Amino acid sequence: KGLQVAIDGPASSGKSTVAKIIAKRFGYVYCDTGAMYRSVTWAALENGINVNDTKQVIDLARRIKITFEPGQPDQRVFVDGHEVTKEIRTEKIAANVSAVAAIPEVRAQMVEQQRQIAQTGGIVMDGRDIGTTVLPNAQVKVFLVASAHERARRRYEENLQKGLATQSLDELEAAIKLRDQKDSTRKVSPLTQAKDAILIDTTSLTIDQVVDEISALIKK
Ligand code: C5P
Repeated sequence: KGLQVAIDGPASSGKSTVAKIIAKRFGYVYCDTGAMYRSVTWAALENGINVNDTKQVIDLARRIKITFEPGQPDQRVFVDGHEVTKEIRTEKIAANVSAVAAIPEVRAQMVEQQRQIAQTGGIVMDGRDIGTTVLPNAQVKVFLVASAHERARRRYEENLQKGLATQSLDELEAAIKLRDQKDSTRKVSPLTQAKDAILIDTTSLTIDQVVDEISALIKK
C-alpha cells in the first residue's frame, strides 16, 4: 500500500525538490503543505484581508477550497478553481505566510485536509510539522537542513531560471532567516525536528545524494 514519508525542514532546504523525485520514484502521492498555507495567504491578500486579522483569516481558511492537480514541472495549485501555482511563489506571499501559518485554527483546518490526502496510500508530504504533528506515525521521517547562505544561493538560482530575480542574494538570505525565525518560534507546531526523524544536512550534497539517502530509508 505504500509508506508515509514525512519531510520537514526550514525554508528552501530542498524539501519539495527531493519530495517530488521520491514520490515519482516510488509511485507515491506528493503533498506540498507549504502550498496550502501560501494559498490561504494569497486568498487573504486577494480579498484585502490583513494577515494579522485573525478572525477574518480563519473564516477565509474555512471557506476556500484548495486543490492540487498534476503538472510539469510543478504540481498545479488552485483556490476555488482559480490557478495560483505561480502567484503563491512570490516574495510577497513568503513575507506574509508565517503570520497566517501561526494561527492555530488555520493549522487545524490544513492538518485535517493533509491527513485526508495521506489516507490514499503511499505519500510523500513536505512541510514544517509533518513528522511531529500531521503524520506522527510516518514510517520514514527526514529533517532537511542546509546553511542559510546555501539556501539563499539555491533560491536565487531558481528565481533566475524562472525569470523571477527580484531580490539580491543578501536580501533573500535575510528573508529566509526571518521566516525560519517566525516559523520556529510560533506557539503551535513550530518548526522542530521530530525525535525519530533522520537529520540530513544538504549543504554540500547533490539532489541525487539526498534522494538516494531517503530512498534507502524507504526500502529498509
Ligand atoms: O514550504 P514553504 O516554504 O512553501 O512553506 C511556506 C510557509 O508555510 C512556511 O514558511 C510556514 O510558515 C508555513 N508552513 C507551515 N507548516 C507546514 C508547511 C508550511 O507552517 N507544514
